[in-house]
Amino acid sequence: MTLDIQRAGQIDQASLFHPFTWVEDLKREGPNVITEGKGVRVKDIHGNEYLDGMAGLWCVNLGYGCQEVVDAIAAQSERLSFFHAFNGMSTDVVIECADELLKRAPVPMSRVFFGASGSDANETQIKLIWYYNNLLGRPKKKKIIARWNAYHGSGVLTSSLTGLPGMHNLFDLPIGPILHVTAPHHYRKAAEGQSEREFSRALAAELEELIAREGADTIAAFFAEPVMGAGGLIAPPEGYFEEIVPILRRHDILLVLDEVVSGFGRLGTYWGSQTINVEPDLITAAKGVTSGYFPMSACFISPKLWEVFEAEAPRAGVFAHGYTYSAHPVGAAAALAALKAIDDKKVVENVAEVGPYLHQAMRNAFADDPIVGEIRGIGLMIGIELVKNKATKEPFPASDRVGRRVLQAAAQKGLITRALGDTLVFAPPLVINKSEIDELVQKFKAAVDAVRPELG
Ligand code: PLP
Repeated sequence: MTLDIQRAGQIDQASLFHPFTWVEDLKREGPNVITEGKGVRVKDIHGNEYLDGMAGLWCVNLGYGCQEVVDAIAAQSERLSFFHAFNGMSTDVVIECADELLKRAPVPMSRVFFGASGSDANETQIKLIWYYNNLLGRPKKKKIIARWNAYHGSGVLTSSLTGLPGMHNLFDLPIGPILHVTAPHHYRKAAEGQSEREFSRALAAELEELIAREGADTIAAFFAEPVMGAGGLIAPPEGYFEEIVPILRRHDILLVLDEVVSGFGRLGTYWGSQTINVEPDLITAAKGVTSGYFPMSACFISPKLWEVFEAEAPRAGVFAHGYTYSAHPVGAAAALAALKAIDDKKVVENVAEVGPYLHQAMRNAFADDPIVGEIRGIGLMIGIELVKNKATKEPFPASDRVGRRVLQAAAQKGLITRALGDTLVFAPPLVINKSEIDELVQKFKAAVDAVRPELG
């Protein structure tokens, strides 16, 4: 590498358009340039080490430098670096990967469609849903319901599905036949004194009303993350899916589970659907499928849809959808190695054990903390919401950027977290052990303690 370390920050600012970054922050602070990683840790360009509490972007589930995946990518790149699956072409490694994925599906699934990102996979799901209803002769049944605070990606339609106004404003979004319902956020959205179960029933009633108002014959699908991630780390309140899924079934509305984060063990079960006890019609997977080592996504298609696609194929003609990198052989090799490593290293079992340990350790550390409003999540997904007043849940003024300040204090102490407003979140590699969790919690507590005196 020829990059001048001293000038790396300057060159970055002069050349790179960063995703999800405020240019004002970047100008003031410069980038944090990461250069290497091993296990749960990464190093920056100055040699500082961090415990990566976010597994990159909720994706490096096997940790950095997993040799099996590295070797599989190298070997496949050498043997066949690219071929595609258009026009009935295929590759040996992609065939094996599709088969292995179907074997691991939480409910019987008929086919896997590959892409390169969670966003393109969810775009595919929307198109599959419309295609399905067109083939069934139901041209009106096209609307899609998502939740406020959902995150389903950055494409035009997937940003529209996403329930975050910051991703709509200035982009002329949302567009398309997309409807949003209330986020299942008990801490912020439930009425005073409303139990989780009562809140879930109220959300089910809201859904029923929406369907009645719009007409069930116009609504095609409902998208949900098992635990909402980027929209604030929100676990479903008690009874939520139990209340809403029967409504969807009654109105013949497909359920798409977005398992881009929750798939492959993050919640302590192989799939998030198993934690929330739901049988989806379509599943979106990405991130953990290759542990972030190669961009790859997979849409799982249930027999209900596939049987229609197959039966109607004679008149539908060519399935006119796909990406250059759909079914990339190097991605498939990475995925096969990652799937094997998840099994061999008993990764899901590890999450089932260390996930509750992380939640308990965090609760112990912040039991009486006056600015910790709520600690929430499941498995190795945890969010800590900071508030000005614990009793009233009054938030800090957004302009104080308390979450970001804690994130920066954590970085100084060698810990990477993510601030979703004033909710600090952790989704560490799934191979993290208890002593690394102790370190994570202790560093996070030190960061909160460092910012506290400035908060007045
Ligand atoms: N769906 C969920 C639940 C996600 O968390 C993400 C990304 O964080 C996406 C979809 C989009 O994936 P990608 O960034 O790979 O397009």
